[in-house]
Amino acid sequence: MSDCIFCRIRDGEIPSDKVYEDDLVLAFRDINPQAPVHILVIPKKHVARLADLKECDQEVAGRIQLVIGEIARQEGIAEDGFRVVVNNGVRANQTVFHLHYHVLGGRDFSWPPG
Ligand code: 5GP
Ligand code: ZN
Repeated sequence: MSDCIFCRIRDGEIPSDKVYEDDLVLAFRDINPQAPVHILVIPKKHVARLADLKECDQEVAGRIQLVIGEIARQEGIAEDGFRVVVNNGVRANQTVFHLHYHVLGGRDFSWPPG
């Protein structure tokens, strides 16, 4: 059994509220939402951090960008605006070391981020 929480979600060992799935990508609602819409989009393949993506990961990396737009439309946040965040590494407050894109929407966001 994997000790990665998102691999366990992918494998159905931990329940999640899935909003999208294909052969390469999975998306589910964050357990501790920071906005009315807060979805995590992950590659099914275990990649620890954004900076660990390799040449051979181009297809999944590209697919994630498209899936994010599709999810935003599905959730009704595409037109109003939404934020996509990837925390890469300890200094950026990454806590789960399986690459994930936070898709946040349904409220206003400020800049610069904290
Ligand atoms: P990070 O800080 O690594 O960028 O974000 C990790 C995110 O994963 C957090 O927003 C946290 O709430 C979420 N998370 C942690 N454990 C679980 C879980 O078991 N299920 C779901 N759905 N989200 C989780
Ligand atoms: Zn993993």
